[in-house]
Amino acid sequence: MTSCIFCKIVKGEIPSAKLYEDDSTMSFLDINPINPGHALVIPKNHYPTILDVDEEDLKKTIIATKIVAKALKDALSCDGINILQNNFEAAGQLIYHFHIHVIPRFEGDGLKVWSGVPYKEGAMEDIHGKILSAMRK
Ligand SMILES: [Zn+2]
Repeated sequence: MTSCIFCKIVKGEIPSAKLYEDDSTMSFLDINPINPGHALVIPKNHYPTILDVDEEDLKKTIIATKIVAKALKDALSCDGINILQNNFEAAGQLIYHFHIHVIPRFEGDGLKVWSGVPYKEGAMEDIHGKILSAMRK
């Protein structure tokens, strides 16, 4: 997929601040970081979302994510690390080449990744049943 910016980074057609690379994966700094050191980890093969990723590439990408997370912890002495992965526009996906965000977090950095809201009466049972039904397909 030649128009994909991440495929171009893999091919070296677009420069990146590369952090890690192996035969199947690559990591580089996000150019619009949530916090300094915010990194992305991608499989070199092009897959639009997590629903498309080959399982071997997925395993290798999460292992590379751990390597990058450890390096961020050591290099930045961050207090925490968020691993985020967005799929489709409604979830904030901007680049349709599967990628995992590795975000260093610091006490008091003010970022709020999510806020949970308790289920209304019976709603958890309903959604639980729907998801289990989908898994049986
Ligand atoms: Zn791509």
